[in-house]
Amino acid sequence: MTVLEFKGSCLCGSVRYELSGDARRFYHCHCQRCRKATGTGHATNIMVKEENFNWLSGTSLLKRYNVPDAERFYTHFCSECGSAMPRDVPEIGMMIIPAGSLDNVIDIKPEARIFWDSRASWSCGVDEIPTFPEYPD
Ligand SMILES: [Zn+2]
Ligand SMILES: [Zn+2]
Repeated sequence: MTVLEFKGSCLCGSVRYELSGDARRFYHCHCQRCRKATGTGHATNIMVKEENFNWLSGTSLLKRYNVPDAERFYTHFCSECGSAMPRDVPEIGMMIIPAGSLDNVIDIKPEARIFWDSRASWSCGVDEIPTFPEYPD
C-alpha cells in the first residue's frame, strides 16, 4: 500500500511513537471487543510491520489488559489518560495502530469494514468499501 511516515500520541501527550513504512491493512473493526474497548461503533486500525515502529516516550505509563477468553486480543493504553495505544501482534510481526492516535494527516483511507456481522444496530452504515462478516478472506 502507501508508504507512511508519521507520529502519534495519547490524549495527555505522555506516550509518543513514530513509524515509517507500508500500511499493510487499514480496517474499521466492528467486533464486540473493539466496540467495548473504544466505547464507539468500531475501532479504526492500521497495521504496520513491527520493525518500522518505535516508541518515543511514556512507555512506563503503558498498561495492557488481556481479555481472558481471547486468543490474541488485548488492549494497550496510557494509564494516565486511558487512550488506546499501538499494540504488537508478535504472531504476525505486526503493530496495530489505533488511527485516532495519529498526529499527522494521512492520505490513505480504510479499505474495508470487518466483523460486520457483529456490528451494533446504530453503527455507521455501509459505504463504498467492502464489508466482511468476520476476518477478511
Ligand atoms: Zn496519556
Ligand atoms: Zn475488532
